[in-house]
Amino acid sequence: MNARTAPGRVTLVGAGPGDADLLTVRAVKALRRATVALVDDLVDPGVLRYLRKSARVVPVGKRGGCVSTPQAFIHRLMVAEARQGEQVVRLKGGDPFVFGRGGEEVDALREAGIEVEVVSGLTAGIAGPAAIGIPVTDRRCASGVALVTGHAQPGGEGPDWAALARCGLTLVVYMGTQRVGEIVAPLLAAGLAADTPAAVVSAAHTPRQREARCTLGTLADRLAQDPGLGSPAVLVIGAVAALGAVMESPEEVETAFRYSPIRGSNESFG
Ligand code: SAH
Repeated sequence: MNARTAPGRVTLVGAGPGDADLLTVRAVKALRRATVALVDDLVDPGVLRYLRKSARVVPVGKRGGCVSTPQAFIHRLMVAEARQGEQVVRLKGGDPFVFGRGGEEVDALREAGIEVEVVSGLTAGIAGPAAIGIPVTDRRCASGVALVTGHAQPGGEGPDWAALARCGLTLVVYMGTQRVGEIVAPLLAAGLAADTPAAVVSAAHTPRQREARCTLGTLADRLAQDPGLGSPAVLVIGAVAALGAVMESPEEVETAFRYSPIRGSNESFG
C-alpha cells in the first residue's frame, strides 16, 4: 500500500498490562489490519502474534533508566509512516490515555493532518490490583479511586500528596516504587494513618507477578527488602488494599462468576 492507493492512518492501541489475553477484540482487529506496529516495551510480545506476517515491527521503548526513544521521534515516525500509506498501530502497555502519552500523540497526529483512532485498554492501576483480588472502588470502604503518578514531570511538580491524603479515595500510584519514601512521607505528614492498608503488585498478569500486603507505614521497608517487587509495579493505598480473595486459576474465576448475583440477573433477562 502507498500514498497513492490508500490514506494511511494511525491507531493507538492499549494492550493491557501483561498477558496478551487482556487485549480487547477491537485491539485484535486493529492488529490484524496493521502494516506497521510501533511497540512500547511494556507490551507483552505475545500480542504480536495477531499481526500479519508481513507487518513491520518497530520497538520504541522508553523504560526509565534505559536507552529510550525520544517522544518527538515517535511522533515524526508515526506521521512519516502514515504519509507513506501505512496502517500504523501504536501499541502501548495498559491504556493509551492513562500515563501513556496518548493525548500528546493524538495531538501531534491531528496537527499533521493524520487520521487517528484510539482503542482503550485495561489499565494497570485497575487490572493490576484486581489480579491480586483488590477491588479498587469497593463501596464498603471506598467512594472512588485516584490514579496518580509517583514520577514528577522533569522540572515539574509532582502530585499534591497532602491533598490526596485527605481526599478519602483509594490511591493507586503508577511509577512509584523508586520514590516511595517521597510519596509516603507527605501522606503521613498530612494525617493519613500509618496503619492504612497498602499493597504492591508488580508485573501483574505476567509469570513474574508478585504482590505484597503491608501498611502505609511499612510500605517503603517492604519494597526495600524485596527487589522482586520492582518496576513495573503499582502501589495501592487505602482500606481496599486489605481486601482480596485471590482467584488464581481460570476455573476459580469461572466458579465465582457463576455464583455472582450479577450473572444471575443477566440470565433472567435472557
Ligand atoms: N498506560 C499504562 C501505564 C504506563 S506508565 C497503563 O494504563 O497501565 C508505566 C507504569 O504502569 C509502570 O511504572 C507501573 O506503575 C504500571 N504498570 C504497567 N504494567 C504493569 C504491570 N504489568 N504490573 C504492575 N504495574 C504495571
